[in-house]
Amino acid sequence: MITEPDRIRELFDRLSEHISEKCSVFMVGGGAMMTYRLKSATKDVDIIVENQTVFDRMEKALIEMGFEPKIPESIYGRLNISNIYIRDDYRIDMFSERICGKLSLSRKMIDRSHLHSEHGKLRLYVCSLEDILLLKSITDREGDYDDCRKICRHDIDWDSFFDEMVSQSQGENEVWISYISDRLTALSEAGFFIPILDSVQRMEKEYLERWSGSLLRKQTSGVSGKKARIVRSSCKGCHECVELCPSEAISFEDGGACIDPDRCTGCGSCVTICRFDAIILRT
Ligand code: SF4
Ligand code: SF4
Repeated sequence: MITEPDRIRELFDRLSEHISEKCSVFMVGGGAMMTYRLKSATKDVDIIVENQTVFDRMEKALIEMGFEPKIPESIYGRLNISNIYIRDDYRIDMFSERICGKLSLSRKMIDRSHLHSEHGKLRLYVCSLEDILLLKSITDREGDYDDCRKICRHDIDWDSFFDEMVSQSQGENEVWISYISDRLTALSEAGFFIPILDSVQRMEKEYLERWSGSLLRKQTSGVSGKKARIVRSSCKGCHECVELCPSEAISFEDGGACIDPDRCTGCGSCVTICRFDAIILRT
C-alpha cells in the first residue's frame, strides 16, 4: 500500500536511473487520485504509455529494479492490462496505448493531462480528473464507484467528459455508453448533479435500440454458425448474461453460467454484455 505521495515521486526517481531515452508516462487511477489529494493511499500505480517502444523501455527498467511481471488476474480481463509488476509493497499496472482494451490514450487526454514531475529522461504526467472518472465509470474493480463519488465532489468539466465519451464510444466500443450511463445514474441517485445525464441516457437508449435491432436481425437470419462458450475461470457469476440471452440458452450452475449449445444461436449478445470476458464465440 502506498500511503505517501512522495513514495510515488521516489519510485519514479529510482526508475529514471534505468531509463536512458526519453519516456513520458501518464498516471491514472489511485496513484493519480493521490496527487489530487482525493485518496490517502493506493494499492497500485496505474500508468499508460503511448506506444510499445516506451512500454518496452519501462518494462526493462522495472525488471532491472527488481519488479516481477505477473499475469493479470481474470477479474482484470475487462481492463486488458498489458502487465502487472510487483516488488515489495509496490505494484504497477502498465497499459500500452489502450486502457480496458477499448479506451485509447487520445490526443485530447494527453493535452488535458498535466506534468507532475520530471525524473531525468522520464516525465510523469497525471491524467485529468475527467479522464480518471471516465475510466472509473467503465471499470468494476473494488472501490471504483467510491472513487467516482470522490471525484464528483470536485469541479468536473462535464463537456470534456462527454466529448471524450462520444469520441471513444464508436463502433464496437458503443457498449461503454451503457456502463457509463449506469455509473452516472447511480451517482445522480446518490445526490450528485450530473448535467450530462439526460444526454448520456438518451445515447444509451439509442444504442440499446440499435443493438436490439441488430440482435433481431441476427436471430432471424440464422446467425454465424458459432456457439457461445463460458470460460469458467473468468465467470464472476453476475447473472447478466443469464437474464439477457434471448434464447434462454444460459443457466446458472455451481456459481457460474452454463450454456446449452442446442439452444444457443450464436448471436453474440452475451459476449458483448459480459464485463469479465468470460464468454467466447467458437465454431
Ligand atoms: S455475464 Fe455471464 S459469463 Fe459473464 S461473468 Fe456474468 S454470469 Fe459469468
Ligand atoms: S450467443 Fe446469443 S443465444 Fe448464444 S448464449 Fe449468448 S446470448 Fe444466448
